[in-house]
Amino acid sequence: MDALEAIGLDAGIRAELAAYDGRPARVVRTDRGRVTALVSDGTVRAGVPAGAPTPVTGDWVAVAGDPPVVVGSAERRGALTRPRPHGDRAEASPEQVLAANVDLVALVTPVDTAPNLRRVERGVVMAYESGATPLVLATKTDLAADLAGTMATLEEACVGVEVLATSAVTGAGIDTLAAHLATGRTAVLLGASGVGKSTLVNALLQADVMATREVRGDHKGRHTTTHRELLVVPGGGAVIDTPGLRSLTLGGDDTGRDLAFPDVAELAEQCHFHDCRHDTEPGCAVQQAVADGGLAADRFEGWRRIRAANENAVLRADPAAHRRESKRLGRMYREAQAAARYKSRHGRR
Ligand code: GDP
Ligand code: ZN
Repeated sequence: MDALEAIGLDAGIRAELAAYDGRPARVVRTDRGRVTALVSDGTVRAGVPAGAPTPVTGDWVAVAGDPPVVVGSAERRGALTRPRPHGDRAEASPEQVLAANVDLVALVTPVDTAPNLRRVERGVVMAYESGATPLVLATKTDLAADLAGTMATLEEACVGVEVLATSAVTGAGIDTLAAHLATGRTAVLLGASGVGKSTLVNALLQADVMATREVRGDHKGRHTTTHRELLVVPGGGAVIDTPGLRSLTLGGDDTGRDLAFPDVAELAEQCHFHDCRHDTEPGCAVQQAVADGGLAADRFEGWRRIRAANENAVLRADPAAHRRESKRLGRMYREAQAAARYKSRHGRR
């Protein structure tokens, strides 16, 4: 198989790139107006013409000329983004693309201690928002005190999402993960420092391309680290590891949340009010389900936290909405104070 087909080049992308009269390439790294890209027989460094959009890691581009130049790019099939920091809004888009054409977002969750379910839930929502398929990768299963119990808890917290148990020590789950990528898919591993991402990537790549923690400690590992951010998996597929892509931010829309919480979304359709917030509204099917145990209270709590985080994201992104919300809260406080004054003056009649 062609080296690029092994990492996802298909007829559709080929046809799109053919319009540019260059050869297909996949970006593995960008820096200062240049890209490093994989081509069918190796790697090229190509310039990006002034004024052209700068590709990101994972993009499919067409490269031509000597010295090589990026002459076109294929439409992205999903992208991992984050809102641009304030003050950086001069850019055309309010979002910064961190990686393109990601099929699988793996939420790396160590199970040597009790997993942080709220973090996993957020990760699942973010994965769906980016248009990718979420996968929960439980790591360090060799250190789990009650592996079966922990796996069951994770599965309950992520309805409809595959949860894969892995261990770099026993090798468990590594082949299954490799099989997920073998069809040319691209994955991103998300998780805090120390959860086992580098170790997992090394196991997948059957090489020490990523410096793991111990190696970092003595500084020798630095030299063995390649500067590619898109790593090719020997059996097919790729893993993207870009700086700044250790976690994502919630985008603020409800689609990801509804995909991550299909049980709550389905119940919500039965609520009396179509815009029910499932707080204290009459005829709320979600509250009813929590009351009769059809929906676990903790799961509903997870849903509420995602909603709160989404609403915050919307407010942050829209200063006018933020001002409206502050005014609304101010009015509520003033009304509550007025009511309290009235009560204290007129007694509790
Ligand atoms: P990263 O910061 O997410 O890339 O985490 P690392 O891959 O550097 O791993 C952090 C630590 O966890 C290292 O000491 C690893 O040796 C250890 N570790 C990673 N995976 C496993 C595993 O499956 N089992 C055990 N016992 N330790 C692991
Ligand atoms: Zn409701």
